[in-house]
Amino acid sequence: MGLQEQKRHFSVNLLEWYMINRRDLPWRRHNNPYFTWVSEIMLQQTRVDTVIPYFNRFIGNFPTVQALAEAPEEEVLKNWEGLGYYSRARNLQAAAKQVMELHGGEMPQDKQSVFALKGVGPYTAGAILSIAFNQPQPAVDGNVMRVLSRYFLIDEDIMKGSTRVLMEELAGELIPEGRARDFNQALMELGALVCTPKAPHCLTCPVMEQCSGRIAGRELTLPVKTKAKPPRPEQRLVALVEGRGAHRGRVLVRQRPETGLLARMWELPHVLAAPAAAGKAAAPLADEPAMALLAGSLWAEGFAARPEGLATHAEHVFSHIVWSLQVYKCTEQDQSSELPLIAAEARAAYDAQAASQAEAAPAAESSASTAARAAQEALTGKGDGLTYQWIGPEDMEKLAFPNVFLKLLRNYFAGAYDEATE
Ligand code: SF4
Repeated sequence: MGLQEQKRHFSVNLLEWYMINRRDLPWRRHNNPYFTWVSEIMLQQTRVDTVIPYFNRFIGNFPTVQALAEAPEEEVLKNWEGLGYYSRARNLQAAAKQVMELHGGEMPQDKQSVFALKGVGPYTAGAILSIAFNQPQPAVDGNVMRVLSRYFLIDEDIMKGSTRVLMEELAGELIPEGRARDFNQALMELGALVCTPKAPHCLTCPVMEQCSGRIAGRELTLPVKTKAKPPRPEQRLVALVEGRGAHRGRVLVRQRPETGLLARMWELPHVLAAPAAAGKAAAPLADEPAMALLAGSLWAEGFAARPEGLATHAEHVFSHIVWSLQVYKCTEQDQSSELPLIAAEARAAYDAQAASQAEAAPAAESSASTAARAAQEALTGKGDGLTYQWIGPEDMEKLAFPNVFLKLLRNYFAGAYDEATE
């Protein structure tokens, strides 16, 4: 079998299979470039089943580029809540504004302009141009590289930029004339349904006859992929502070800073207990020092609260960090009369922790100085430039939380931790 024949076999059989087996997905029902764009952004790192309800709700609330561009950011994040990788939502909205300003609200059709949109990389640009406008552009992501590595028995490391370039060239050559829209979706569909990462269904695969990887018995060892660095584990202490007096029935939350991880999302106050050594799991801290440290951290943020006991454990996995959370129920204390009592012991624990973290990272801004600054700002209640709010269950509808805090708060308001610390 020659390479040209192998390529032809792939394109023809894959397309034929797709036209019969394609899934009916909401973004495929209309040929709307905006829908294609939103779906492709949502599908990054996220499964189709998870995306469908989010997509329907998002399009229901922001049916056009203009509606998205003009919506308050808080509302956009709220519609993304639970989907993770929130910078995708912020970039999508920023790009919608670009489309309004530079292209009169119409999705651009040239590669350079699509690529210039915020949050749009080579894969997404290729997907938009091919699916929305039927342009013969490759759309190569990890799934497509897996399929091509196996079918053409390519041993190159797919983490390398040079391999991506090679794959893009190859994928571009495979697109049958005038069929970019269907072919690129067919390739994605094959990777999602048949040529899956761990257990490819070779026996039902439409291109199995000429698949070099299968013939060589390499379908399980391809693609070649160097391992990404394991995520850094972090043990964090979380405060579920129950309000008293004017704040009775409410819980303290704070908004994250303007930039960085989970920018502008809301969360329960938390503090790093101890960074773990590389490659090691983070170890839980014993309750007593944990509660002292947490009280000190809250105090440094301008709040007097007494940790009462452990409510639950939780975990939040990012691509580069894993947070292991020890969640403590705390009660708000009277600032004027009780703050000094709490502060004495707690502050000592917090300062000691801050100093040890500063020692561990001497090049970075010292955590001790951060602690000192936070302690100063505590007097004005400003924390570290963060915004705080006492919320009840009704506020959950308005503020956007990362998944882990969303679950903790929902459980809390449902009474799940009522007995945990009694
Ligand atoms: S035959 Fe197997 S390895 Fe080859 S493309 Fe199909 S599912 Fe993947």
